[in-house]
Amino acid sequence: MHIFDAHNDTLLKLLEAGSHQDLNSIADSHVNLEKLKAGQIKTAIFAIYVPESYRFGLALHKALLMVDIFWQNFHKYQSDLLPILSITDLAKVRNSGKIGGILSLEGGEALEGSLANLRNFYRLGVRGLTLTWNNRNQLADGVGEGEQAQGLSKFGLEVVEAMNQLGMFIDVSHLAEKGFWQVLKISKAPVIASHSNSRTLCAHPRNLTDIQIKALADQGGVIGVNFYPYFVKEPANEVDLVAVADQIEYLLKVGGTDSVGIGSDFDGISCVPKELEDISKIPRLIDELKKRKFSEAVIEKIIGGNFFRVIEEIFSKSS
Ligand SMILES: [Zn+2]
Repeated sequence: MHIFDAHNDTLLKLLEAGSHQDLNSIADSHVNLEKLKAGQIKTAIFAIYVPESYRFGLALHKALLMVDIFWQNFHKYQSDLLPILSITDLAKVRNSGKIGGILSLEGGEALEGSLANLRNFYRLGVRGLTLTWNNRNQLADGVGEGEQAQGLSKFGLEVVEAMNQLGMFIDVSHLAEKGFWQVLKISKAPVIASHSNSRTLCAHPRNLTDIQIKALADQGGVIGVNFYPYFVKEPANEVDLVAVADQIEYLLKVGGTDSVGIGSDFDGISCVPKELEDISKIPRLIDELKKRKFSEAVIEKIIGGNFFRVIEEIFSKSS
C-alpha cells in the first residue's frame, strides 16, 4: 500500500513554531513524523505557503526559510525520510521503508517576477508550483478574485513553459477558471490539482466543475481530494470521513479511475472531518473505500498510484 498525500502546509506550521522547527516535536500539528508513520504514508508533498501577512516584500525570504526547514528535517531524520528530486528517488522510496517528501511552492509570489528564482528554487529541490493562492499575483489570478478574475500574465505563461522544461509539476488548485483553461491548453505535461474537490457536491469557488475535472483527467492529470470540511459538503460541521469518501467517489465518476488522489491540506486547515483528524487516520479512509466495493487496483490508484504515476511522468518530460 503506497499512500501519497499531495498537499500539506506543515512547513509553515514549523516556521511559525519559532525555535522548535522539528518535524518530530510539533505535537499539535496534523502532520509530524510519528503521524506520517502511523498513517503509513509513503510520500507527501510539502507545500511552501507564504501567508498574506508575509507576502509583500517578504515572500521570497519566507519561502527560503521553509526550504531550509524541509532540508534540516530531512537531514536530521534521514533514516526515516527521503527527499524526492527525481524518478530515481521515486523508485527508491517505493522500494524502501522510508517516507518520501517533495517540495512545492504554493503561490508564485516567492518568484518575485523572475524566472531565475524559479530555476533557483528548482536547484534547491522544489519540484512543483501551485501557480496562485486565492489572490492575484504576478503569474495569474486566484479564485478569490471572483467574477473579475483574469487568466495568466505574460510572466505566468513563461513560468508554465519553464516548468515544463524543468520537469516541475504545475498545480492548478486555487487558480481562477480562465487561467485553468490556459494552463491546460499550453502545458506539454499533465497538470495536477493537488487539493481541490467537486463543485457539484460542494458549491465553493475553490472546487472544480465537472467540465474542469473531466478536462484535467483527459490530459492525464490527477486531483487530490481536499479534507477541509468547507470544501467537502454543506454544512461543514457535519463532514466526516464518509463525506470525504463521497467526494472521492464523485470525482472518480466524473474523471475516471486514473484521475483521483489524496491532497489532505492538513496543517493548512482550521477544522477537520470527523474521524479524519490528522494524517495518521488515512487508513480509516481506505477502510471506507474498501466498504464501497472498489477493487484493490482502483483503491491503490486513489490512495497513491495515480499521483506516483503523474509525478513520474512529469519528471520524465523535462527537456
Ligand atoms: Zn491551498
